[in-house]
Amino acid sequence: MKQSLGIYIHIPFCIRKCNYCDFCSFPGSGEDLMRDYTRELCRRMERDLPSPELYEVDTVYFGGGTPTLLPLDCLEDILHILRSHTDLSPTAEITCECNPATVDLAYLRALRCMGINRLSIGLQSVHDRELLALGRLHSFSDFLATYRDAREAGFENISVDLMYGIPEGTLESFRKSLHALADLAPEHISAYGLKIEEGTAFARMKDSLSLPDEDTEFEMYLSMTEILSAHGYRKYEISNFSKDGRQSRHNLRYWKRQDYLGFGVAAHSCFDGVRFGSSRDMKGFLAGKDITEERYSLSEEEAFEEWVMLGLRLAEGLDGEEWSRRLGRSPKSALPSLRTYIDRGFMTEKDGRYSFTDKGFFVSNTILAELLSDCEKNC
Ligand code: SF4
Repeated sequence: MKQSLGIYIHIPFCIRKCNYCDFCSFPGSGEDLMRDYTRELCRRMERDLPSPELYEVDTVYFGGGTPTLLPLDCLEDILHILRSHTDLSPTAEITCECNPATVDLAYLRALRCMGINRLSIGLQSVHDRELLALGRLHSFSDFLATYRDAREAGFENISVDLMYGIPEGTLESFRKSLHALADLAPEHISAYGLKIEEGTAFARMKDSLSLPDEDTEFEMYLSMTEILSAHGYRKYEISNFSKDGRQSRHNLRYWKRQDYLGFGVAAHSCFDGVRFGSSRDMKGFLAGKDITEERYSLSEEEAFEEWVMLGLRLAEGLDGEEWSRRLGRSPKSALPSLRTYIDRGFMTEKDGRYSFTDKGFFVSNTILAELLSDCEKNC
């Protein structure tokens, strides 16, 4: 039987850099560079895609950057390589990230015609003053136009990104963003807390930024679960909510440690037990250099830690039996902090599975560090 595989394709072009962004993207790139990049990307895909005899591709994700800045024929070329060099499942989930105001109805119709069946739109906030503070180039009404065009073009699976804990943001404004977005009923919503990353515009202005305090962020996180649940969404991952059956199949691969191959600059892969990432060096990429960074096979211990960390991001949590098997004894007896967190309402044990509660999700990094330190001491 063939193994299932996901493909990630990084399109590193943006109109301008947002204030918080540390993704690998090259703002202000012209069409010539995008065409050169596509040509090299296709060459590498032809060379490196694994045999269609062995793998069936059932998720594809165009991420960025802003993939919808690519000329349509470039996207078509990439999809052509995928179709001709892999066994692309007829039911594959094929997602394209998209920024409001970078596409029109004709562009979206063309995406749909070429087989892209899921759109992930970066909104971040419904308040124009917050969008301005984030350095986004679009307004809420731009988003509404893109969203309506996407529906008209036939997209029946749309995800929208929001952010919280942002400059100018308050609990009330975030709640309004959640209500306004949920009223539109996209199939999927991701909402991430702002992190100030090194090298970003926000890192340079850090001292002058007025950000919500941690208690407010906690309230925001709880509001998210409350409001989205009331609108029929289910939290299936720490920051991701979906209507029934509309979880991101591609992103679930990452959290379930299933195989995926990334193509393009700064793309990461996890394939056959080995993790590796390609360099951010655009010049080297275009010159055909293979610069692989961070190539490593996980030791048994690292694979276990990763299994715990990724598995607990999911609302379904970890299977207690599997955990016992890996630990050599029951998790509650091996990990004293697990008992404490269950007693204090940060974690639950239900139907033989361990998972975070809503308040546990918010402080999950701290809890995970303690659980893993227990593992090191006792296992
Ligand atoms: S559009 Fe996305 S990838 Fe581009 S700069 Fe903004 S956040 Fe980064």
